[in-house]
Amino acid sequence: MCRHLGWLGRPRSLAELMLEPPQGLLVQSYAPRRQQHGLLNADGWGAGFFDAANGGVPRRWRSAAPLWSDGSFASIAPVLASHCVVAAVRSATVGMPIEASATAPFTDGSWLLSHNGVVNREVLTTTDRAESVCDSAVLAAAIFARGVDSLGEVIPEVGAADPQARLNIVAANGSRMLATTWGDTLSMLHGADGVVLASEPYDDDPRWVDIPDCHLVDVHDGEVRVTALGVTR
Ligand code: GLN
Repeated sequence: MCRHLGWLGRPRSLAELMLEPPQGLLVQSYAPRRQQHGLLNADGWGAGFFDAANGGVPRRWRSAAPLWSDGSFASIAPVLASHCVVAAVRSATVGMPIEASATAPFTDGSWLLSHNGVVNREVLTTTDRAESVCDSAVLAAAIFARGVDSLGEVIPEVGAADPQARLNIVAANGSRMLATTWGDTLSMLHGADGVVLASEPYDDDPRWVDIPDCHLVDVHDGEVRVTALGVTR
């Protein structure tokens, strides 16, 4: 399982969100604290953010190399800042290709989306082209085709079609952030300046709360709503 993170709030740098926290994605790439599937996340990383200065378009930097080995990203990350970020480090599922295009976040041009988990691609019906044959990329294409706004319906449907699936999603479009828990961990830190959703807390701040399994988190206009998904595992 991968580890992912979403941010919606005041502009923060990618270094501040991913590299500097004592248990941030950088440390989670080699020493995650709560990972139940896999020991490390060395099969790539991705950072996506919305560029408010240029019409709010999503921009991405993805790599198939371990995050800890990327000195160029570490050098530039302090000056890449955004109000809305989706980032991930990857532990590839057996049989999935290790390539940048298989690494979250995926995009349809409006949303950035990360999947932490595994799904049988045969239960996914989409005619839209996925960025990679990787299960997460195919799932992202299926969600984009349905509309990310209907994530709360799509995830229970996919979960019913594939009872072995783990379907933790973080997605954002610059003004809204959605996340699901379906088989793996997710924590939230709601501070004065914004909301972080992360597979695991990136520090020991006592304000982190754990989101229960089979829930949807919806962050919009400074409001956070956590609701149970339709089906329980
Ligand atoms: N199944 C996805 C992949 O292979 C995600 C894996 C994960 O969550 N570790 O990339």
